[in-house]
Amino acid sequence: MLTNLHIAVIGGDARQLEVIRKLSEMDAVVSLVGFEQLDHGFTGAKKKHYDELNFNEMDAIVLPVSGTNPSGQVDTVFSNESITLTEEALKQTPPHCTIYSGISNDYLEQITKKAKRTLVKLFERDDVAIYNSIPTVEGTIMMVIQHTDITIHGSNVMVLGLGRVGMSVARVFHALGAKVKVGARKPEHIARITEMGFIPFQLYQLKDHVANTDVCINTIPALVIDASVIAKMPSHALIVDLASKPGGTDFRYAEKRGIKALLAPGLPGIVAPKTAGKIIANVLSQLLMNDLAARKEKNGS
Ligand code: NAP
Repeated sequence: MLTNLHIAVIGGDARQLEVIRKLSEMDAVVSLVGFEQLDHGFTGAKKKHYDELNFNEMDAIVLPVSGTNPSGQVDTVFSNESITLTEEALKQTPPHCTIYSGISNDYLEQITKKAKRTLVKLFERDDVAIYNSIPTVEGTIMMVIQHTDITIHGSNVMVLGLGRVGMSVARVFHALGAKVKVGARKPEHIARITEMGFIPFQLYQLKDHVANTDVCINTIPALVIDASVIAKMPSHALIVDLASKPGGTDFRYAEKRGIKALLAPGLPGIVAPKTAGKIIANVLSQLLMNDLAARKEKNGS
């Protein structure tokens, strides 16, 4: 339980509702900032304006997945309030106060560093990334079905990258009956691709492998599907680029060649916001409990 733990949830979208629900269930004292347009309430959670927050009693601050924008503004889907998280605010918190966000940027890194507070980037954790790969794959299947006129079963699907997302994508498309080829650069990845029953190839040979590709799914956040690769693809090929913006595709050249290429960021929040929220809520609540237990042990209570 998180009894008596003071937590401020500042901004965010539908995913944050699962976080609030979980923290309330676990008996935390939750202050909600940026949620005044939310109809339903949560037991133990109080809606407040940013300037009403008592930072000096906060044990944790939970930001949206995006953290802040480059000038410190926090995205608020359920409010019109303009909120900017500042170094001064963080300095008012107790030294053990931890800031949780999905990802980060220079601004957030700087203010937490200068205020000497710990910043936890949940999306950098393997557990969160692996759990999130599940709705990501489901969203990818949806996009492939929507944008092709062939079945996934029997199609030639190429997956680029064998990280946390790439492995899940390759496994599920294989299970749906696609002929799956996976490109990677590390020998151990090539070995794993072989062991999993997919067709492996070295990434530097990508352009020699795309001639019969129906669907190419990229998970590599670097320009891998460049003009020389796109030039060798069949005209009916579909590219679904899952890598973080700007993706790994030369979209300009794909358009010029008439090849459909889609950048598809944030699929978990689009296709399964409730599940995506639960993933964050479960990991966050576990981290908060670990933190609380460590502090109690340190204080001998
Ligand atoms: P990951 O576990 O770090 O995997 C990334 C893969 O890309 C690894 O196989 C890595 O290979 C490879 N890679 C990275 N840089 C490369 C380069 N310059 N050249 C060749 N290979 C390179 O990351 P992940 O969790 O799978 O996420 C992959 C991407 O998807 C990220 O950009 C992430 O933000 C994004 N994502 C998107 C969604 C969505 O909804 N669209 C959802 C979740 C994640 P090495 O091991 O050889 O470096």
